[in-house]
Amino acid sequence: MKAPKFNYVKAESRSHALQLLDELGEDGRIIAGGQSLMPTLNMRLSQPDTLIDINKIPDLGGITLDGNIVRIGALTRHVEVANSPVVAEHLPLIAEAMPHVAHHAVRNRGTIGGSVALADPAAEMPACVLALGGTMVVESVNGSREIAAEDYFHGLYETARETNELLVELRIPAKKTGDISVFMELAQRHGDYAMAGLACVARINGNAFEGLRLVYFGSEDKPTLASKAVSAVIGQAWSEECKEAATKALEDDLDPMANLQGSSAMKLHLQKVLTGRALDTAIERAEAA
Ligand SMILES: Cc1cc2nc3c(=O)[nH]c(=O)nc-3n(C[C@H](O)[C@H](O)[C@H](O)COP(=O)(O)OP(=O)(O)OC[C@H]3O[C@@H](n4cnc5c(N)ncnc54)[C@H](O)[C@@H]3O)c2cc1C
Repeated sequence: MKAPKFNYVKAESRSHALQLLDELGEDGRIIAGGQSLMPTLNMRLSQPDTLIDINKIPDLGGITLDGNIVRIGALTRHVEVANSPVVAEHLPLIAEAMPHVAHHAVRNRGTIGGSVALADPAAEMPACVLALGGTMVVESVNGSREIAAEDYFHGLYETARETNELLVELRIPAKKTGDISVFMELAQRHGDYAMAGLACVARINGNAFEGLRLVYFGSEDKPTLASKAVSAVIGQAWSEECKEAATKALEDDLDPMANLQGSSAMKLHLQKVLTGRALDTAIERAEAA
């Protein structure tokens, strides 16, 4: 199938894009890398009246370390994130996750802002941003606001961003000394969207978890922060019994959606398996550090 007819406007500046978003409302749609939007147009799953191209806006990309915050412009391509020394040193969770995002061709065009704006529940970057306690910066003609990742992801492709708001930047706390991160996912083929996945950030003392954030993706309708599984682990010496308690508690944290890739029960099983593997790996990484 071919895309339906649409108007196309190249935004010359950030303020031009904001003006267009405000004027067009529901009829306007930002296009960044186009790696998710164009397939949905071609399949007629989406029929916006006008595409607003933000690719030529000069100050929307780039990665900088600002104190203890890594600032990533929304238009930064996945490939730039993957190759960034700042990300490798200060956001190792994202560095570990990025090779799982699609394939080279998609990573060359797709943007981190597009991924977070779209909020696909099986996407890697939203889960990482939530696990790391990041903040989304959005702008409209009325000004700018910051939205914590905990408040940003509302549901299936639903976020706290309003129709007239442009996502301009992600602000993500840099790794603190002693932080351990682990990223794992299961997909049918490498580069496919995840059937189940886990972004984990931990603080470990000896063989006990002192702090832990577990964010699951690929099974729920949005990236999901676990609380019960974390409570089962914190302060306990890591052991097979503790692992069992954590995976049992996960049944109260998750309510997986069945889809073509598998049933709810199968996805819960996969997330349990990943939990055990990720926490074992976190302990190993802490011992090796
Ligand atoms: C074959 C294939 C496999 C893929 N596999 C994966 C995968 O395994 N994991 C994964 O995470 N992704 C995957 N993707 C998607 C890819 O990562 C996309 O690049 C990403 O989801 C969207 O980024 P984009 O820049 O292409 O956004 P676009 O397609 O341009 O836009 C996506 C949506 O976000 C909105 N948007 C984009 N930027 C902004 C902004 N700055 N402010 C407000 N709204 C904005 C658009 O209006 C649109 O609704 C895959 C894509 C393909 C084609």
